[in-house]
Amino acid sequence: MPLKSLIINGFKSFADKTTIDFTTGVTGIVGPNGSGKSNITEAIRWVMGEQSAKSLRGSHMPDIIFAGSALREPLNRAEVTLIFDNRNHELTTDQTTVSVTRRLFRDGTSEFYLNQKSCRLRDISDLFLNAGMGKASFSIISQGRVEEIFNSKPEERRMIIEEVAGVYKYKQQKQQAEAE
Ligand code: ATP
Ligand code: MG
Repeated sequence: MPLKSLIINGFKSFADKTTIDFTTGVTGIVGPNGSGKSNITEAIRWVMGEQSAKSLRGSHMPDIIFAGSALREPLNRAEVTLIFDNRNHELTTDQTTVSVTRRLFRDGTSEFYLNQKSCRLRDISDLFLNAGMGKASFSIISQGRVEEIFNSKPEERRMIIEEVAGVYKYKQQKQQAEAE
């Protein structure tokens, strides 16, 4: 399921609306230290439902909003949109193009959209879990992650395998059902 575009607006160092279009093949993002390469992958993880501020190198979620610089005032909201080419219907929806948007305001309120329609965070998480692309899967491998997987406990490694295999979502649903 190819990525088509990523639109970042007010997320971390991206104070201005920035669109990255992915063409076919491999996309490389290069730049000096501190130029925002990791922020791009974090924007992708965030819009796909990341809920841990720590794993986005912050202490609470509003830390991902552009915090201002010598020349610019801080912003009050961050917004990221990810657009997928879904012609192979790997995401279980009829749409051949799927867009996912997440918006966060400094007061902590959030908004989520699937194809421009307001939805819950859970709808977005489910969409990716169903496609075997939840937040613990191999879809994004960050610095140090390979080592971490090798060094992880067997139970933790099993969770990753279960998520990739598509079993994990049923476990989560079972847990949810039991809690309700
Ligand atoms: P490296 O090559 O060292 O891995 P990188 O290109 O991955 O660097 P990032 O870690 O993506 O760089 O970007 C770090 C920059 O983002 C820092 O300059 C930091 O000040 C800036 N930054 C992080 N959070 C915010 C924020 N909320 N507002 C403004 N700037 C931010
Ligand atoms: Mg980096």
